[in-house]
Amino acid sequence: MDELYNLSFAFALAATFICLANICFIRIQGRMGKLQNKLFMMILITLVLNGICNTVTGFLTPYKHTSETALFVTQAARYLYFVFHTMLAPLFFLYISSVCGIFIRSVRSIRIIYYGVFAITELLALTNPLTHWVYYLDSDLQFRRNWGEALIYLAAAFFLAIAIKNLTNTWHVLTFKRKAGVLMFTSITIAGILIQLLFHDVKVELFAEAIGLTGIMMIIENEDDRIENVTGLYNRQAFLTDLESYMINRTKLHVISIRINTPEIVSRKRGAVNRELLEKSVADFLSTVHKRYNIYRLGRRSFAMTVFGKDDEEAYALAQKVSTRFDKPWKLTDTFVMLSASIILADIPRQVDTLNDALYMFESEKPSKTDKKILAGDDLNFLLRGSAVEKSITHGLSEGKLEVYYQPTYSMDGLKLHGAEALVRLHDDDMGMLYPDEFIPVAENMGLIDAIDDHVLMDVCRLIRDERLYEKGIDCINVNLSVLQFMKQDFVEHINGIVEEAGIDKKYINFEVTESISGGSYEILNNAINELKREGFMFSMDDYGTGYSNMRALASMNLDCIKIDKSILWEAEKSELGYIILENSIRMIHQMNKNILVEGVETESQIKLLEPLGVNFLQGYYFSKPVPKDKFLAIVEKENSAGR
Ligand code: C2E
Ligand code: CA
Ligand code: CA
Repeated sequence: MDELYNLSFAFALAATFICLANICFIRIQGRMGKLQNKLFMMILITLVLNGICNTVTGFLTPYKHTSETALFVTQAARYLYFVFHTMLAPLFFLYISSVCGIFIRSVRSIRIIYYGVFAITELLALTNPLTHWVYYLDSDLQFRRNWGEALIYLAAAFFLAIAIKNLTNTWHVLTFKRKAGVLMFTSITIAGILIQLLFHDVKVELFAEAIGLTGIMMIIENEDDRIENVTGLYNRQAFLTDLESYMINRTKLHVISIRINTPEIVSRKRGAVNRELLEKSVADFLSTVHKRYNIYRLGRRSFAMTVFGKDDEEAYALAQKVSTRFDKPWKLTDTFVMLSASIILADIPRQVDTLNDALYMFESEKPSKTDKKILAGDDLNFLLRGSAVEKSITHGLSEGKLEVYYQPTYSMDGLKLHGAEALVRLHDDDMGMLYPDEFIPVAENMGLIDAIDDHVLMDVCRLIRDERLYEKGIDCINVNLSVLQFMKQDFVEHINGIVEEAGIDKKYINFEVTESISGGSYEILNNAINELKREGFMFSMDDYGTGYSNMRALASMNLDCIKIDKSILWEAEKSELGYIILENSIRMIHQMNKNILVEGVETESQIKLLEPLGVNFLQGYYFSKPVPKDKFLAIVEKENSAGR
């Protein structure tokens, strides 16, 4: 028996020292000081108190028969042990909840049950000297358990169960490390409890808990992998995991995202040291308006803050506080700079309830239409729509939701059907039909534009081949290509491959590319056009007159046709200056020996206006809107039978 007492005493002493060491370690390392860290510290302190109580009990037990004082002190220590130990499971539950991103303050029903069960068990422990419901000493001064202890264990099991429930809800969000940490703690603790239940006198439970907590301290409480070294803030990965667990657990919060727009100049002119300095200044400023453990650095120049327990107005006020700081300059080593920031305030989960949408929102460019400094409330619809469009494109490509429409083009000479332009549409189950003006720029950003353009080209090739369009008075079908395509290696081979596989003559395909491209890439574009032309394709320049027209570059390109934008036509109708621009554009293009197509012809008077100017082709709603394939084929048949 003596040996067992010694063993229990040693275990208790070891547990105390382990927890004390952990406390010192945390003090030295420093922590963020958030609720989770505070709860962990409370658990450690509770364990230390438990350990001291058990050590005292273990040490004095052999003397309790001989000394009144020893008996009294063991009794007191045991009493305190029960009072403190009963707190452990509820604390552990709170701890796990906060690791999972759940704040029980916000869930009323859970709060009531939690405090209820906790109060009952704690009351049992506190009143034990009067009731002896938890334990008592028998006539032989032997320790005896009573039904109250079973109840306390049951309550502990209950807290463990709801902690595990929270854990499993959030399980897939937790990093492997965290999962391992929690599993290790739980299994070691359970093993300790079981051993102690089986061998009453081996008081190993506390020791097992201390070891388990050390594991948690090393794995979960140590946040080195979540902290980013330039600013000392939480990093992007931490933001992703935290936000996802908030979303899974339907935790209500606001997120304020801050994107600094201007320091491109700063980084180029003033070097990396200043860039880091700047980001540190912004980070430091943010930590003056909000708790550091709720601030994240999402990437270069972009930050986010999570805001809990505030209503829309309070959160807005915080966003405003951040925003006004950007009205003042920021200090660098040798100068001051002004920065501009776009700030987004999102209400989660009311406005955004998926991680994808949130990221899209926080990371997309601010819409150029707005001059608001803070985007909040309805301003975010635009961004949310963008995210929905992104999803629709991915889904549309894999599920075949793209459809090619055809808009016929006509020769000025006799207004005869001459060809068509292929224009893509995207069908979305929720949003209906999406137009390319909206989704093409998004697809370009996502790097999916080539897949779309390929799809359109294949559709066009099949149509020409299967319907033998070349026998029905169709000279060519125009296919739009994104300028981005030209920058890709093997672009011409790729296009060739598609058309050759369909087995049609390349001259029936007329590629269009928009003229508004930046100066530097003309050479690449020119080379690609030459190659395509050598292969036998036709080539048109689209949207003439919308951008900055580099006449010299345009003249030097090997183009079959230039498409004058609808805005030029519409202006010509409205004003004399507009007419002069149209007339001279047409004259100049003719002098370059290129054909001209005018877009956006909606009325007969527009045709009358264009007739004397020597335009070659026309396209517009006057003749037909873009229509699905079968409608287009009906137009072809009708023209054909009328022609005969
Ligand atoms: P775009 O190449 O300038 O195409 C002409 C646009 O003007 C089409 O809009 C067409 O519906 C519209 N339009 C034609 N005639 C008239 C008219 O008389 N009045 C008015 N108000 N509008 C007219 P859509 O189909 O919405 O296409 C928009 C743009 O999307 C296209 O401009 C083109 O740049 C791009 N796009 C369309 N399909 C594709 C594609 O397959 N690939 C790529 N890369 N871009 C495409
Ligand atoms: Ca076009
Ligand atoms: Ca156009």
